[in-house]
Amino acid sequence: MVGIVIVSHSALLAAGVQELARQMVQNAVPLASAAGIDDAENPLGTDVMAIQEAIASVYSQDGVLVLMDLGSAVLSAEMAWELLTTEQQANVKLCAAPLVEGTIAAAVQAATGASLEAVIAAAQNALTAKASQLSVEHPSSVSPKPSPIESAEITQEIHLMVQNPLGLHARPAAQFVTTSSRFQSQIGLQNITKGTEKVNGKSINQVVTLGVRQGDEIAISAAGSDAAAALSALQQLVENKFGESDSIQNVGAVGAVGAQGLRPHPDQFTESDSKSRYSDSQPSIPHNLSGIPVSPGIAIAPILFYPVDSLQDGKKNESILSQFSLPVAAQFTDNPEAEWQQLQTALSTAKSEIQQIRQKTAKVTGEAEAAIFDAHLLCLSDPLLLDAIHQHVFDEQKSAVAAWQAVINETIISYQEIEDSYLQARAADIADVGQRVLRLLIGEELPLLQLSNPTILVANDLSPSQLMQLDLTNIMGICTATGGATSHLGILARSRGIPTVMGVGYDLLRLENGTVIGLNGETGQIWIEPDTAQIQQLETLRDKQLATAAALKAKAQQPASTRDGHRINVMANIANVTDAQLAQSNGADGVGLLRSEFLYLKKEEAPTAAQQEEIYRAIAQIISPHPLIIRTLDIGGDKSLPYLDKTQEDNPFLGWRGIRVLLDCPDLFKTQLSAILRASHEHPIKLLLPMVTSVGEIRATKQLIAQVKADLREREIPFNETIEIGIMVEVPAAVALADKLAAEVNFFSIGTNDLSQYVMAADRTNTQVTALADAFEPAVLRMIQQTVKAAHKVGISVAVCGELAGDVLAIPILVGLGVDELSLNPAAIPRIKAGLALWTMADVDAIAPEVLQFDSAEAVKSYVAGRLKIMG
Ligand code: PEP
Ligand code: MG
Repeated sequence: MVGIVIVSHSALLAAGVQELARQMVQNAVPLASAAGIDDAENPLGTDVMAIQEAIASVYSQDGVLVLMDLGSAVLSAEMAWELLTTEQQANVKLCAAPLVEGTIAAAVQAATGASLEAVIAAAQNALTAKASQLSVEHPSSVSPKPSPIESAEITQEIHLMVQNPLGLHARPAAQFVTTSSRFQSQIGLQNITKGTEKVNGKSINQVVTLGVRQGDEIAISAAGSDAAAALSALQQLVENKFGESDSIQNVGAVGAVGAQGLRPHPDQFTESDSKSRYSDSQPSIPHNLSGIPVSPGIAIAPILFYPVDSLQDGKKNESILSQFSLPVAAQFTDNPEAEWQQLQTALSTAKSEIQQIRQKTAKVTGEAEAAIFDAHLLCLSDPLLLDAIHQHVFDEQKSAVAAWQAVINETIISYQEIEDSYLQARAADIADVGQRVLRLLIGEELPLLQLSNPTILVANDLSPSQLMQLDLTNIMGICTATGGATSHLGILARSRGIPTVMGVGYDLLRLENGTVIGLNGETGQIWIEPDTAQIQQLETLRDKQLATAAALKAKAQQPASTRDGHRINVMANIANVTDAQLAQSNGADGVGLLRSEFLYLKKEEAPTAAQQEEIYRAIAQIISPHPLIIRTLDIGGDKSLPYLDKTQEDNPFLGWRGIRVLLDCPDLFKTQLSAILRASHEHPIKLLLPMVTSVGEIRATKQLIAQVKADLREREIPFNETIEIGIMVEVPAAVALADKLAAEVNFFSIGTNDLSQYVMAADRTNTQVTALADAFEPAVLRMIQQTVKAAHKVGISVAVCGELAGDVLAIPILVGLGVDELSLNPAAIPRIKAGLALWTMADVDAIAPEVLQFDSAEAVKSYVAGRLKIMG
């Protein structure tokens, strides 16, 4: 097989080109590079001897092709060639093709076993595909169902050059259509460069499919009373480059809705499809990604985007609507008016759903990404689409479902037929919107996902309730583009022991369903399509981790103490009965935090007192004889209840949350208090109040408790009269008032997840700032110290139940600060019990005050890690 040598001034450049070529041919072609020189100060240059060695390393009778970057690289390559024997010179050719394209084309050709001449020809023609892709050619098929504007109506027309980097992709197209729609005039748009027909400028589908790219000339026409104003507004929009900066942005991901809108992975391209699939606007996906390590463990499996629109694992869902088959009886109607109304209702619900996703995306990831949903919204009011559906319903008497399905499918197919990878990908956006409306029309919930094969779940964002709906059996790992370690999704993943990496960024969403990835939940690393060696490495690491975990679990039923015998209860944070079982089997000394809100999520209405009591009793039974601490409903922040009348808040973590909601909804609160009190009969159950900021909130709660108790007494229902009441210390106000609050309650439980976000002023769900909300920050640790001091002064106990308690590095600090109990995700209990046994009280008493003086969380962690290392 012909070998290929890359000669470059830059070792990095050569490595990149080599990697690209290697991926293309799956290691099938001998590749070598000679690049850079051995001079640390000035590493750019070429070395004749290195080139000679590279040629020798891939040399065979089949020949070697040498590709160079420029200048002295060519001279050096010529000199290296001259040093070859005459026989070798006959088989080694230098090639003037461009380095990147030439190398890739040559490698692809060589992989077919082609002759040296054929490989040279491929390299020399390497620019043809790119040139033809960039050239002016566009068939009329560009526009699905074009409806040309009547030229007689046109009163004015302007010609402009589109200058923003990605042309009229989804976001600018949405802006164009929104602006056009503000005017009464008919707006026409034509891509002059590509020679398309004029289309309706108020139709998102038509505007997008014109395939307008940077540098294309467009003609905008307007006919009507406000034509001049419309043209002026549109001109301004185009000339302002639609508000885009000159840097290319990733427009592939559609955000929180899942798998649609994915862009092809360049490494999966072959030469034959490169023309249709390559896009100059498409930055390539790196082979490795990384994010925030959230839940430890190794996972290697194909990915599946969630939510999925089909129960079939791993299917791409671009043509999902055609898979939905409608019984014939449901395809036609006698009452078109009612069907039309039904469609209008579904469209308006879909709009408000998308608006909510848009709002959330804007908050979590930024306005630029959120604006993609504008295209979805416009699709719902696209006049052409609606006209077509209207025709189906009123002229052909089709049902709303059948009409919607037919028109959306036609639109999807029109997009898919266009020879433009960017526009093909937009078919997925249409499918996404189409699927949403279809689901509303047929009244179906998102399907409960049951996977038959090991899978890594990938999402832009996943809510805690979405995760709770899933059967986790075959979910090997979770990976999200946004979010942070102390988000409730992260907490749930950790408690279920699912390796998880979050906050990976939008490149993640450009992968294809079914792509195999490896992830390390401890380091946050992700390998895309790992090779055999990488898989072997990961599997070895995974086996080692699993063996260590099994050994620790075997010892975890023993009580936990420091090496010198100081007992600390290591308890579990749980969400439901399944977690309780896991906690029990992992050796939990009780449940330190039952997040009761998970009983309320994903329900039509709040659970009754009887339903709650049954669950509390079941959990108490499982964890018996150890105590169960039930935290009353902590809704708000990143958890919401559909049946609670909660208006959208700009800053939900600073909003109507925790005890504030409970005191404003006394019936809801009293129902829960009653359930807890009833379950407290015969079980060691305690009550924990979330998000307390004032003495008044505790007193108001106590009054409600007194009322509930009186009611139970009257009805002769037994309960624990002396049930203990504690509060979460998780806002700075509670720390400042710790002495006063301690006088009101029986115990404190410090919620370091919230305490960190509020002390550090960094939203725990916001990828951009979540690193700041680090509980190892000395500012947070000092708050813990202050809380413990105030509590111990009046003789009440203090637990830490935030994620910090599940971190091995935090043990000596928390114990050294005097914390009495730790409560953490059940999966980490064996590790923490073993970690505690490494220290003596003398160790921790020295470490805790020391780290309070450090400057940063990093310094704290590396200090404790260093101490652990010394101890071996
Ligand atoms: C905390 O804030 O640390 C805590 C344990 O509660 P949650 O994570 O449920 O807000
Ligand atoms: Mg909290």
